[in-house]
Amino acid sequence: MTRITHALMKAIADLPVIDAHEHLWPEEYHLAHEQDVLTLLQYSLADLEVAGASPEEVRLLQSHREGPKASLEQRWGIFREYLPLIRDTAPIRALFIALRDLYGVRELDDATVHTASEKIRAARTPGLYDRVLKERCKITGVLNQNPDCRQSDGFLLPIRSLNETLGPLHSRAGIEALGEETGRPIANLDDAVASVSALFDRWQADGTIGVKRAGTALSDPSREEAAAALDKVLEAGEFTPSSLPLQHFLEHWCIEEAGKRDMPVSVHTGLWAGTWADIRRAHPENLIDIALKHRDTRFDVFHAGIPWVSTVGIMARQCPNLWLNLCWCHVISPVLSRRALSEWLDTVPVTKIIAWGGDYWMAVEKVYGHLVMARENIAEVLAERMDRGLCTETRAIEMARMMFHDNAQALYGLD
Ligand SMILES: [Zn+2]
Repeated sequence: MTRITHALMKAIADLPVIDAHEHLWPEEYHLAHEQDVLTLLQYSLADLEVAGASPEEVRLLQSHREGPKASLEQRWGIFREYLPLIRDTAPIRALFIALRDLYGVRELDDATVHTASEKIRAARTPGLYDRVLKERCKITGVLNQNPDCRQSDGFLLPIRSLNETLGPLHSRAGIEALGEETGRPIANLDDAVASVSALFDRWQADGTIGVKRAGTALSDPSREEAAAALDKVLEAGEFTPSSLPLQHFLEHWCIEEAGKRDMPVSVHTGLWAGTWADIRRAHPENLIDIALKHRDTRFDVFHAGIPWVSTVGIMARQCPNLWLNLCWCHVISPVLSRRALSEWLDTVPVTKIIAWGGDYWMAVEKVYGHLVMARENIAEVLAERMDRGLCTETRAIEMARMMFHDNAQALYGLD
């Protein structure tokens, strides 16, 4: 690390941060579930599978909602076999940094796995989120998408998933459930639109600040096609593949409505979490038609479209309603994250770039580890620009402040 990078890192570490994407559970829920060093793996489980771990070994190490599935000894017995294979990958580095800085554990091995776990358990008391997120990370707000985080507490700020809302409409039961939830029984397309509109009212009353969609392709059915699809679903009752015109019509309606209500639409692009997924299904180019059609809606393009970081940069240069968000990216590929930022700073105004979001569910400590990695990457890119005489140190720190805080604040209209 050069002297300039080091100085920038220090300056950036003092800046306030908006965490521009998480899936964190409410703290009470988090504390009610047992945790240890091996429940914090999350993205590293995919690396384990790529390294050759069997589905059963990975299953035993998963602890998404319900806590550990086996004793720490048993899980460590599996994990220690694969640790030498995955220890150089980016996701596990976020854990190593968190263990080092938050718990003083410098190496994860036979000697420290239990002491590290004890320290993690001891830290799990009310106020954990404040201590890690607000105090250590200097986070002032979290854009949070979690099924149990529906009400804003002024810090965890809810984002609602359009796919979770519209996905169940492939069956009559799903349509009836939506009608019941909003108190508006659905017999035709106008009823369905009124129901979704009522959901938006409720979401906004709860403090929801945006909606999110998956990055898959979206067809553009007519009102008549959508109405016919709704009739078919109501007739068939069960899952109906021909429900797509209904769901896609409503999704377009929601995207337009979000624009009218000043709620940004965040969009997953590129790599999926886990293994055996088809990255082509989330190609950022899927967003081009949508962005061109809904020009008054602002889109927050998640994950830099990895690996298509150049494509999203040029898309954002072409469509003024796109913002570029490096959430999750620094633990997918630090090199691609730096390349993305380096290219984008030449291509779009810095106000369109959001530096970081952790993208964790349970692993709150890794939010800190990931943030340290993001600060390193941003500092390195800005230092390189200073080196080339493209900006002063003052401007570099100003840009960092915008990318870590001000741009997300402005996009989502936060106080
Ligand atoms: Zn996510």
